[in-house]
Amino acid sequence: MEEVFGPEGLIAQAHPEYEYRPGQIEMARAVMRAFEEKRHLIVEAGTGTGKTLAYLVPAVAAALGGRGRVIVSTGTKNLQEQLMEKDIPFLQSILPKKFTATYMKGRNNYLCLNRLGRAQASPVLEGLEEVDYFEEVVDWSTESERGDRAELSNLPESLSFWRHIDARSESCLGQKCPDFDPCFITRMRNRAQESDIVVVNHHLFFADLSLRNSMYSRRSASHRGHCFGVLRLAGFELSDRRPRAGSWNDHYRRGGR
Ligand code: SF4
Repeated sequence: MEEVFGPEGLIAQAHPEYEYRPGQIEMARAVMRAFEEKRHLIVEAGTGTGKTLAYLVPAVAAALGGRGRVIVSTGTKNLQEQLMEKDIPFLQSILPKKFTATYMKGRNNYLCLNRLGRAQASPVLEGLEEVDYFEEVVDWSTESERGDRAELSNLPESLSFWRHIDARSESCLGQKCPDFDPCFITRMRNRAQESDIVVVNHHLFFADLSLRNSMYSRRSASHRGHCFGVLRLAGFELSDRRPRAGSWNDHYRRGGR
């Protein structure tokens, strides 16, 4: 940790205005120890401690050190975006070992190719002005890598037909879907499976954990090896708010054991 956070460390070399903060390195060491000892950790640290890097650096070290993929779960979209657009690219530029990261949003942020195809055959538009928007979405669907609604930044926030073509789970045909392979959700999951760090929100994290746990309990013993492998992903949650009774603030979790 000294090599990264120390006064002459990698961050200081990249940021001339970097200020060495003992609290930050103390937190980073505590997080690293928690990863090594496979135990929970709750951290409360004030504004200006540099908490994000203090958990991200050990998380990357743990993932690259063979401890499994690390899930970083946050409470707000702003923090997810800050992680993906600022903090993670910064670490990717300064850390000597390369690592990969994927951002998983809720399903209704992504386009469903199957529903889009069906919407082209049956009207879902509420006004003539939406015709151009719909055509723009159709064009974008053939070029987009991620199918993320946020890429359509020039379209209005409230596209009334989006709810008819998004990838929400209740409309998903799963593996029976003829568009399963090119599906943006399938591709996002494949990317996540290959990434060292996966950034999600709490809702997605716990919904997924709950689903996996119920699947796990229903599987026969012969299937448990596979589920066990999935459940061994590490979870890590952080919020800037003070912890409330019954909620986790800074939380490290390793499941499947
Ligand atoms: S697998 Fe589900 S989300 Fe993906 S294209 Fe098919 S129906 Fe849509």
